[in-house]
Amino acid sequence: MFLIAGVQPKTRRVDDQPRRCPACGRMQAYTTRVDHYLSLFFIPLVRVKQGERFLLCEYCGRPMNTGPSPEPAAPLSGTDITCVACGKSFDRSFNYCPHCGQRA
Ligand SMILES: [Zn+2]
Ligand SMILES: [Zn+2]
Repeated sequence: MFLIAGVQPKTRRVDDQPRRCPACGRMQAYTTRVDHYLSLFFIPLVRVKQGERFLLCEYCGRPMNTGPSPEPAAPLSGTDITCVACGKSFDRSFNYCPHCGQRA
């Protein structure tokens, strides 16, 4: 008799809201997470690693990186700021306006 233990990946769907797959265009991409479980006799016992969330299309099976914020964030959720000098918007991680050089 063998002791069959190991770490297995387990794919979990995080939410049930379908998104449009950029690869095949179908609304069958779901936010998915691959957790790794320590399993014994193929039964997952302990979650050893929580995976990053990503979009996985169930039609074509293509994974897509959703970036650091997979939540359906409010449109233009304030990550951009507007330059006081030229009025253009840019990411708030910039210290200077990339359009005109105005200090942010
Ligand atoms: Zn697809
Ligand atoms: Zn500017």
